[in-house]
Amino acid sequence: MSQIPNELAPCGVFCGACPSYQKSCLGCASESKEQNRKSKWACKIRICCYTNKNLDFCVTCAAYPCKIYYKKLLDPHQGDPLFKYRHEIPEIFSQQYSPDYAIFLENQQKRWTCPNCEGTIKFYHYKCSKCGYEHII
Ligand SMILES: [Zn+2]
Repeated sequence: MSQIPNELAPCGVFCGACPSYQKSCLGCASESKEQNRKSKWACKIRICCYTNKNLDFCVTCAAYPCKIYYKKLLDPHQGDPLFKYRHEIPEIFSQQYSPDYAIFLENQQKRWTCPNCEGTIKFYHYKCSKCGYEHII
């Protein structure tokens, strides 16, 4: 695995906008054990991508989007707007992953930055954590 930003999970979720990020979790890409959140170590997507396939991102896998990806990320909470951050990934990830993750990451950083105060908009809430600005989803 090469050096990939902690803000980007192998599945394409932008960890930087996760309510746990830098609180109990350092992001899915981090291998540091110095974090409270343990669930990520058992994530089937993470294990498949990093360990079994030795890839940085699912989008580069020949099987993408595979059954594991659907089952874990896309199928749950279908139609629930709070989970739009997941359901929108397959389309934008493959479109923007060229030649690597840089453009996708840049767009994700913009998408989750508050236009009012530059605070971080968190997913699930879709609200700026600093000024309360409501992000339209
Ligand atoms: Zn704000």
